[in-house]
Amino acid sequence: MAVIQNVKGMRDHLPTDMMLRQYIVSTLTSISEAHGFEPLQTPIIEYAETLEGKLGEDEKLIYRFEDHGGRRLALRYDQTVPLARVTAQYAGQLTLPWRRYAYGPSYRGERPARGRYREFYQFDIDIVGSASPLADAEIVAMLCEALSALGFPDFVTLLNHRQIIGGIARVSGLSEEAAGGVYRAIDKFDKIGVAGVRNELLKAGVDTGAADRILELVQIDGSADEVLAALAQRLADDERAVAAIANLRSILDSLAAMGVPTDQYRVAPRLARGLSYYTGAVFEAITPHWPEGSLLGGGRYDDLIGLFAGRNIPTVGLAFGIDRLHDVMLELNLGPRPRTTAVAYVTLFSGDYVAASLALAAELRAAGIHTLIALEPGNLGKQFKEADRRGVRFALVLGPDELARDEVVVKDLQRGEQRSLPRAAVAGLLAEALTEQAR
Ligand code: AMP
Repeated sequence: MAVIQNVKGMRDHLPTDMMLRQYIVSTLTSISEAHGFEPLQTPIIEYAETLEGKLGEDEKLIYRFEDHGGRRLALRYDQTVPLARVTAQYAGQLTLPWRRYAYGPSYRGERPARGRYREFYQFDIDIVGSASPLADAEIVAMLCEALSALGFPDFVTLLNHRQIIGGIARVSGLSEEAAGGVYRAIDKFDKIGVAGVRNELLKAGVDTGAADRILELVQIDGSADEVLAALAQRLADDERAVAAIANLRSILDSLAAMGVPTDQYRVAPRLARGLSYYTGAVFEAITPHWPEGSLLGGGRYDDLIGLFAGRNIPTVGLAFGIDRLHDVMLELNLGPRPRTTAVAYVTLFSGDYVAASLALAAELRAAGIHTLIALEPGNLGKQFKEADRRGVRFALVLGPDELARDEVVVKDLQRGEQRSLPRAAVAGLLAEALTEQAR
């Protein structure tokens, strides 16, 4: 028989994993909606040309194929390029600035590794059509809010600006064109270290003096204010870098005004972010518990939508990597781990009482109680065991005695207690026990 397997770099998510993934997604959805973001969904398949010319070097990772009609198509690489297409295509129907969120799979032909897959899910938030640093600050504040809500103990958001890196390259004596190679080399900083980046810079044709100046500047460290002050001094002769520093200052001021704890973000001049479409502030969240890479990443991309719309539409956004968040949460034992959301298991006393039990289950569901029902009547002990095996806390019995008294037996399988209650009180008791459990 052929080996039964899924495609390399793509994963099946069994129920216990899905429970945690859904918890992450619903947390991110509530935060997005609390900030007034609106949902958007686009197809997984786009015309190849929609994605081409937007991703720089990463374009080689796009999954491309031809359909039956010979059209050149591609699997979605991220949710950003489709957003740019949608903004241009529905210009008349969208009111800018537009806050949107989107959740779904993206595909990249990468070499699979820990936390790196070929199919992975992203949850994106973007503010389309605003150049205000308040928009950048809101996105960063939301990511800090989200990681706190998910229980991440010590994450930090690194902030930088493309024109700070540009300025570092320029004051180190590099031409505008050579600055591109600098982004790519610096982007690998956390993976290959100082010596590795130095090698990459030299390979890109940067001379040793300039490479050392760049390396010194990108390693400036300290509190956000200290780093900005040091950069302001060192990059004072570069107009664009000076403006970038002012932009980051303004973002930091807003973060403070929004009450984001100052230990949740830092300015890191070594943060480049791989994607070529970023034009302004860039950010990424990391945690020491996951040295393999970022939990999420984003930034300002003021020119990308213009490639479709024919006019510049400044935009800032970020993508949470659901798979990364999930993998790290599993490892750190964060988040709830229920096996099921059902709290009630309605047993079937015997064939004669199936209809009564079905009615009881419907009644409980109508009262908002997630309820499973047995499929085979008889042997109650076996049914209790099945409820317990499924992780359902309460097993309910409705037999002739209970029906006659208009009561239901409620067995708490966690505590091993059981009592007979008036039928009308059962939903209330289950709801109360659940609230207690959540506390
Ligand atoms: P990017 O779209 O490259 O800016 O990535 C944004 C986020 O998506 C990253 O921080 C990761 O959490 C996640 N991500 C990107 N590529 C992958 C991948 N190959 N596998 C899993 N997650 C990914």
